[in-house]
Amino acid sequence: MNERTLACDAAARVLTLVKERIGEAHFDSWFSNVTCIPSDDGLEVRAPMPFILEWIRTKYHSVLVQAVAEVTDIGSDLRYVVDPQTSSETGERDGRIPSRPDLPPAPTETPFERNARYLRRYSDIQLHEEYRFENFVVGSGNQLPNAAALSVAEDPGATYNPLFLHGAVGLGKTHLMQAICHGLLAHEREIRVVYLTCETFVNQFIAAIEAGKLEDFRQRYRRVDVLLVDDVQFLARKERTQEEFFHTFNTLHENRRQIVLSSDCSPKEIPNLEQRLVSRFKMGLVAQLHPPDFETRVAIVKKKSRLKGTELGHEVAALIAARITSNIRELEGAVTKVLGYGTLLGRDIDLDLAREALYDGVRGETPRIGCDRIIELTAAHFGIGKTELQSRRRTKSIVHPRQVGMFLARKLTRHSLHEIGTFFGNRDHSTVLHAADKIGRALADGDEELKSHVAQLEALLKGDR
Ligand code: ADP
Ligand code: MG
Repeated sequence: MNERTLACDAAARVLTLVKERIGEAHFDSWFSNVTCIPSDDGLEVRAPMPFILEWIRTKYHSVLVQAVAEVTDIGSDLRYVVDPQTSSETGERDGRIPSRPDLPPAPTETPFERNARYLRRYSDIQLHEEYRFENFVVGSGNQLPNAAALSVAEDPGATYNPLFLHGAVGLGKTHLMQAICHGLLAHEREIRVVYLTCETFVNQFIAAIEAGKLEDFRQRYRRVDVLLVDDVQFLARKERTQEEFFHTFNTLHENRRQIVLSSDCSPKEIPNLEQRLVSRFKMGLVAQLHPPDFETRVAIVKKKSRLKGTELGHEVAALIAARITSNIRELEGAVTKVLGYGTLLGRDIDLDLAREALYDGVRGETPRIGCDRIIELTAAHFGIGKTELQSRRRTKSIVHPRQVGMFLARKLTRHSLHEIGTFFGNRDHSTVLHAADKIGRALADGDEELKSHVAQLEALLKGDR
């Protein structure tokens, strides 16, 4: 026996060991077309398709390492290679259309594994682990899109078809789309889900025309159970792709296959989108995501920080939520920044640290909260002028903010009742006492709206320091 034969035997023993460890069923699903070839300093694991290789790398790497260690005539290096001889899929990622549009069944696969395999095979984006329904905080701005997405994930094709989600950037469209995918994969039955960006759809369409493989392209998207296309505003001004998309849409829709689309604007606002597509997009449910309110933002900050390993306390969460109001991606960025700052400096994360982090580490003087600032912020918050707040006018829309301001001044400053009265337009000390008392009682009675106003203003004022 020569050295080469010995090495090949050893490589075969590695596979036998893997089979013993993971069981025959899993082995047959994933390793049936895999070969192990001895290389100079270890082993080359060859699989015919990239996704199989990826699966093996993520799921079975440690089993392989262990097996290699036990087979002593093999070096310890492991390399994963797509087998050029059996591969039919290389090149697909660079836009070429695969010749075989479906997947061969693997008998021992669970429906989940098969669904996941299908999605990975035909989707251009890897699902984000965290983009699940349980990590999506629901508030008034996204209640409807969330409910619709849930119902699509539970029973695709049944109710809202298409589901069209739109809203400004960073408000959770992609999160919801991927949550739907995660939900669909978990179905007990086989379900063919494809999730891609509109940009990929456009690029693959162009590549298919160039390669003369339009039919393959069509087959690929017209045989799915659920098609999710993210950022369809990308269809703007692309007439030929629009036409192709129109036919794909119709085929799926007529066959009661679910379609989910997202865009940064409503269907009719997509520039130069053909009228017939606009009306198709509006056929099911058009659900808009709005910027989250303060409470939702606080909940998101807490949720994100928990996912990152350290749940922020309420005061810090409120400060971040008061500072960043419109884009949840930025909100998340601020959470990362504050947490990172804490780790970097090895300090507890309190209001001071959060303020420093959000001010890029520059720390100024620490001014006390003053009545001037309270008046300025309160007036702006309620959308009235500073002078109105300090005036003698007694309309409810002015009296209420004024009372909130007095309450805050009483709570957050060291000024006397008399001094506060002076700031708020030369009022009597009993007026201040009455105002502070009234707001305090309403809060204790559970006035949620008021609570929200006060919490936001407090967070902003504390963030000033
Ligand atoms: P879009 O696709 O609308 O631009 P994304 O879905 O990419 O926005 O969301 C941006 C970030 O904000 C993501 O990290 C996402 O998880 C997060 N996010 C958005 N909305 C919520 C929410 N309601 N709850 C939790 N996280 C959210
Ligand atoms: Mg997105």
